Amino acid sequence: MLERRMNEQAVAIRCRACRKTFTPEAGESGVWVCGHCRGKNPNLARHFRSVADLCVFGLLAALFFLARRLEAGTRDWRTLAQAIHAALFVVTIVLTYRAATPWRSVTIKTLIWVVFVAALALNVGVPMWLSGKMYLPVLAVYGAIFWYLAWLHIQAAKCTPRHP
Ligand SMILES: [Zn+2]
Repeated sequence: MLERRMNEQAVAIRCRACRKTFTPEAGESGVWVCGHCRGKNPNLARHFRSVADLCVFGLLAALFFLARRLEAGTRDWRTLAQAIHAALFVVTIVLTYRAATPWRSVTIKTLIWVVFVAALALNVGVPMWLSGKMYLPVLAVYGAIFWYLAWLHIQAAKCTPRHP
């Protein structure tokens, strides 16, 4: 009984509309509907899984860039940075997939920002700076990703009860 109550508290969501707390159904795939006012709340579990999926693409990209540099025999700070970046992606992916409520973890939310800002710096910022060219389409993609991350960050804060 106590365990069940703790589980329910662990996933307690504060409704964006009426500010009351409710517990979404486990494994629910659509929006989380508030039991008090029928207000729609974003399915944070699903959104954080999407971010973890995005991190898998990031990891593949980091491994690709790392392999290309190693193959070319380039052993510099950028090669080391790509290796650290890939490792950070692995940590972020594992923590996010394993967490029951990743939107409440400051560590996970911080790591998500760190890996994507690092991706922008390493894969776009540095190459643009070295080549003197603007990669506008790539910047637009990153803009969309950061827009989504910022939205999700705000939703996570809104839907977390102050005193769970
Ligand atoms: Zn509500």
